[in-house]
Amino acid sequence: MKICRPVQDMVFRCLADGCPDTCCAGWEIPVDEESAARWQKLPPEWRDRMVEATEWSSGERQLKRHHGRCVLLNERNLCELYAACGIDALCRTCHLHPRFVAEYGGLREIMPGLSCPAWAELYLMSDEKVTFITEESDELPAYNEIDASLFYRLKKAREKAFDLLQDRSIPLDKRIDALLALAEATDGVSERGDVPQSVLSAYIRKLRQLEILTPQWRELLQRSHPSVPQPWRETVGERLLIYYVFRFWLRGVYSGKVLPWAKLAVWSCISAFALAADCETREEFCEVIRLYSKEIEHNTENVDALYRVLCRHSGRYSVAGLLKAWEKIK
Ligand code: SF4
Repeated sequence: MKICRPVQDMVFRCLADGCPDTCCAGWEIPVDEESAARWQKLPPEWRDRMVEATEWSSGERQLKRHHGRCVLLNERNLCELYAACGIDALCRTCHLHPRFVAEYGGLREIMPGLSCPAWAELYLMSDEKVTFITEESDELPAYNEIDASLFYRLKKAREKAFDLLQDRSIPLDKRIDALLALAEATDGVSERGDVPQSVLSAYIRKLRQLEILTPQWRELLQRSHPSVPQPWRETVGERLLIYYVFRFWLRGVYSGKVLPWAKLAVWSCISAFALAADCETREEFCEVIRLYSKEIEHNTENVDALYRVLCRHSGRYSVAGLLKAWEKIK
């Protein structure tokens, strides 16, 4: 199968015990059956420890957590299973994290998530245009039941989306408009009607209604955010949009619609920018985006809730609503 990922992934390195966060705090960690079976073959003390470290919750096997942290994390935030038995002992979730993986027939796409501080810094602090590499691997695709003609149509449209988003001769607001127009044309719909006032404050209210993981995020959602001029906003916005278009666009292969996913990419950019409006440095700005990624993008329920409202063709969550909100923060 083919593996596609951003070129920068080749130089990504985990911060290990220097990480200000950790992959293993706050989230549920499901364990796949293959890894659970492999743990049965570990040396006896580790085999028993892994039985103790897992439990059944919400219908799946998970690693236990203590105060939200995986029980295998030591006081230096390092995984004891990894340290004792090596990377091959990790379950699939931990082996992949912080990368997300999506498969479309014979194509696998991989990118580290912006919730990881090391990737957020590497990816968002760069001014380069984003490039992707595709390599062949010996692995066979696990799942091939996709509509091939829809897949190729969406993939071609996404290549166009990447080109137009990185055309720096055009201001970012025009590129966002063009991205949404491309998604509307791909789905054969138009969402350019009238929208109510106060779109942006409605978006912040929506964020407050979603599931909240960390106190930092709760605090950020309560603050008011007077805008501070930031010369690097266009570059960060461009890279953020590329990230979310890469992450979401091809999900249209499974849902049959690309426009709500394109809108989710833009909505994510608007939300992160609105919450980061008072940041004075690019580092602070990137930290807000990292928190957004951790709280929203990595939470399936939150993504599903947003997808549902972004399927609306009129009102605040239409294309016209998104463009009006962007006007407020640009
Ligand atoms: S969040 Fe990133 S830097 Fe931190 S432990 Fe995970 S991979 Fe390493």
